[in-house]
This record gives sequence, structure tokens and C-alpha cells, in this order.
Amino acid sequence: NRRIRLASRPVGVPQPEDFIHDDAPIGSPGEGEVLLRTRYLSLDPYMRGRLSDAKSYAKPVEVGDVIVGATVSEVVESNSAEFSAGQTVLSYGGWQSYSVEPAAHLRLLDPEAAPVTTALGVLGMPGFTAYSGLLEIGRPQAGETVAVAAATGPVGSAVGQIAKVKGCTTVGIAGGPEKVAYLEELGFDVALDHRGDDLRGALKQAVPQGIDVYFENVSGPVWDAVLPRLNTFARVPVCGLAAGYNATEAPAGPDRSAGLMRNILTKSLLLRGFIQTEFVESMFSDFLRDMGQWVREGKVKYREDITEGIDNAPQTFVGMLEGKNFGKTIIQVGE
Ligand code: NDP
Repeated sequence: NRRIRLASRPVGVPQPEDFIHDDAPIGSPGEGEVLLRTRYLSLDPYMRGRLSDAKSYAKPVEVGDVIVGATVSEVVESNSAEFSAGQTVLSYGGWQSYSVEPAAHLRLLDPEAAPVTTALGVLGMPGFTAYSGLLEIGRPQAGETVAVAAATGPVGSAVGQIAKVKGCTTVGIAGGPEKVAYLEELGFDVALDHRGDDLRGALKQAVPQGIDVYFENVSGPVWDAVLPRLNTFARVPVCGLAAGYNATEAPAGPDRSAGLMRNILTKSLLLRGFIQTEFVESMFSDFLRDMGQWVREGKVKYREDITEGIDNAPQTFVGMLEGKNFGKTIIQVGE
């Protein structure tokens, strides 16, 4: 069993020496458990938080442990009546080529219904994050303007396309001309490059009507540019802060919290953080129904960025946090 374990807690950008690559015997399943062979491993920004022991909503990966992550796996051996060898499941095997997991944690996938990798992206956790955060907190109304950054990623691209389905004008912000061109392909009404010189000016020019829903994926300078463009009663589902996941100190410049509070007060803004698990019970089945349909109808398109070989996971992960990914980041671990 090829595994990648945490060697030390990264400070700033994770370094190769923060990871141990080694081999271990393949485990065997106990009662109610299943032995799985990993086919695809999902890499997600939240994993940066798990490598740190700062207090958060989930407990960290311990030093020495296999790094956690969602996987699409094949059942090799089953000690559960629910699963049988050869089936494909959504699992939580982590950064390793085999895992033993309780059957209760697995979800059976139907390879005929959709490519199995979509269970890690558009039809999985990131797609659900977009769906639940946008609809439950953002509550976009037809005719309103919805903006999102990291807009070519699995969360952001779904946010923009769902907003379009709901009849909104959509603004996508991404890094670099290639990604901006792709946003136009996805049907965003306005596509802007946050690496361009003046995002604030570009927003003012391209979105004169202002923004009613800003789905926050990144924070940092993008947020600084968006805040003055928010309309009265704008909603801000605060989903992620990807611009700062590797930060080791507070951003430079004056303390801007007074200006932020003034904006919240005078424009009656709603800022509401969320972790998608909050909405699973109430919304996941609606999500699978709606998103499945939108994907089949071509209303929601998606893009995957697949790298082969589990040993490439650390560098691919670090690249994703810096925007080197183009679409949902996945490691192909086995056939
Ligand atoms: P992405 O695949 O979109 O990857 C992260 C992206 O962030 C990069 O590709 C890059 O895109 C962008 N980025 C990185 N640094 C900066 C920066 N300094 N300024 C602006 N953009 C930057 O990730 P996901 O779609 O998987 O996740 C998007 C966000 O959603 C993340 O913040 C993640 O933590 C959050 N999330 C939250 C969940 C929740 O329950 N609250 C659940 C799942 C995800 P680009 O090249 O375009 O700049």
C-alpha cells in the first residue's frame, strides 16, 4: 500500500519534506468493513487546514498519519452485505492506494449514470458547497448580479452556472487569461482577471449595477475590490479564504475592519460563513436531483484537472493553492 503521510506541520507553503512517501502492507477488512483500491483521490483546499493544528471545525491530521481525502475506489473485498467486489464507491480513503473503511461511510456510484470522477467535483462535495451556499445563503433572485472568484474551480464554476440557471447576471473572477477565456465559454456575463492591475476599476466599469450576491471563495485583495461594489442588502456566503491558506502573517497595510463594519452597517450587508456539512441533511438529495439534471442538460459544465500517480499529490496540492490547477484537482491513483 503506497501511502503519503504527514512528516511535519507545514509553515507557510507546504514543502516536500513535510510529507513521507512509504509502503505498508495492505490491510484486511473486519466485520462490516470493506477493502478498497483507490482509483481517484480528490485534492481540496480544506486539506491545508487539516495539516495545521490551529483550532478549526474539524480535527487535524496527526503527524505520522496518512493525509485525509475523498476518494473514488473499487471494492476489492467486502465483509458487508451492502457491497460486493468490483463495485465503485465514493469513499474517504485518503492519500494512499488501498484503504479499509466501514461500509457505513461509503456511497455506491453508478458509472453508467455519470463519470465516476464527478462524485469528487461537480456532483460531489464542491458542487454541493456551491449549491447550498449560493441558494440557502445567497438567495439569488432573477435579474440580480452574482459574483464569484476562483471561478474556474469546482466550487466557483458551479456557483456561476447555478446563478445563471436562476436568471442572474454573473461575474467570474479568475487568475490569468486562459482561465478568463474559459469563463466566457462557461457563459459568465463578465469575466475578470484578478492578476490584472486594477480589479477594483475593472469591476466598476464592467459591473456598473453593483453586486447583489458575492460568493466568497478567496478573500484578500479580491474581497477588497468587491466590497465597495456591493449593493444595499447584498448577501455574502463566506465559503473559503483561499488567498490566505499558506499565509504566516496578517496582510500588510492599515487595519481595514472599521471600513468593513461601516459597509456592513450602512449597506445592510449579510455576511454568513458556512461549512457545507451543515446543509447535507436538508439539501443533498435536492442537489443530486437538480445538479444531475443541469449537468445532463449541459447547463452546468465542469472541467477536471487530473494528474497521474499518488506520489505527485503533495506538489499538485501546493500548486492548486497557488492557482496552478485548471478545474477540479484530482489524482489518478490507479486504473
Ligand atoms: P479551486 O480549485 O478553485 O482552487 C483554489 C483556487 O483559489 C485556485 O485555483 C486559485 O484560482 C484561487 N486562488 C488562490 N490564491 C488566490 C488569490 N491570492 N487570490 C484570488 N484567488 C486565488 O478550489 P475549490 O473550488 O475546491 O474551492 C474554492 C473555495 O471553496 C476554497 O476557498 C475552499 O476552501 C472553499 N470550500 C469551502 C467549503 C465549505 O464548506 N465552506 C467546501 C469546499 C470548498 P485562480 O487561479 O483563478 O486565482
